[in-house]
Amino acid sequence: MKVAFLGLGDIGALMAKHLARDPFDLVVWNRTAAKAEAFAREYKARVAATPAEAVRHADVVVTCLPSSVEVEAVLHGTDGMLEAIPKGAVLVDCTSGDPPTSRSIAAELAGRGVGFIDAPVSGGTVAAKAGTLTVMWGGEAGVFERARPVIEAFGKKIVHAGPVGSGDALKAVNNALLAVHIISTAEGLAVLVKAGVDPKVALDVINASSGRSNTSENLIPQRVLTRAFPRTFRLALLEKDIGIAAVLAEDLGARTPVISLAAARFHEARAKLGEEADHVEAVKMIEEENSVEIK
Ligand code: NDP
Repeated sequence: MKVAFLGLGDIGALMAKHLARDPFDLVVWNRTAAKAEAFAREYKARVAATPAEAVRHADVVVTCLPSSVEVEAVLHGTDGMLEAIPKGAVLVDCTSGDPPTSRSIAAELAGRGVGFIDAPVSGGTVAAKAGTLTVMWGGEAGVFERARPVIEAFGKKIVHAGPVGSGDALKAVNNALLAVHIISTAEGLAVLVKAGVDPKVALDVINASSGRSNTSENLIPQRVLTRAFPRTFRLALLEKDIGIAAVLAEDLGARTPVISLAAARFHEARAKLGEEADHVEAVKMIEEENSVEIK
């Protein structure tokens, strides 16, 4: 099965490596060509010079780009995929994208006999490395079946969310919850530090109680208490995701003030901490505002 993978970023490269083996015949493309060349030195893959060249003979094309804006750009830009992607192929967009753009890409590709599913992933770089990502996909079952072996190569829990755009919607809401947990847990711990409670003691109790979350159980102990703050998922991308959730809510007339507030806080954090910061570094903003360190 001929596979083209476009976007070898923090998570994309870890997903693509599961396709660099039989029965797949992998071609990779990355905007910064040096990353694609480094990938091909380590894994069984050929490097394409342009998106068009990458997809020309593909059965399945996977995109893993920051947002739907970049997917559109790679589709329509100079040497883009649109004219080159073969009839009968499927584009699996693993970007955490936005539902309206995914629907419009799906409609455009359908007119050319090309299938599309939005298939964002969760589980972070740890699950990507292990090939055990959760994949939430939107689209038609017949299209998914044509791409199933590729998705199963990096996914473990693979769930049909609904029509095209549903995977994006589910991913955006999941990440909105993550953003709320990061902000709320950091605020709670900042209060407790001010109250003289050791954050390790606080987390010991919270993680045995109803206030726990992945943030309190894993992110804060492993990344904040240790002051390690490794870069695995850029804060800018989480800010983008919670923004998608906020727009989705607005479009649907849903009242979601907590999501809107968390979106505004991540917007501030992105402006303060920059494009390269990790998502958990949002905690630093709350520490600074409260003149405490959670450690
Ligand atoms: P990164 O920012 O690490 O990588 C982004 C990739 O997109 C790079 O390959 C980059 O190329 C490429 N790119 C950026 N801008 C453009 C452009 N204008 N045209 C073409 N290519 C471009 O992102 P991640 O790999 O972390 O994330 C990818 C997607 O997966 C995002 O939607 C993210 O929200 C989602 N995701 C990420 C997770 C994580 O843990 N990291 C977890 C779950 C989902 P270049 O190398 O040239 O910069």
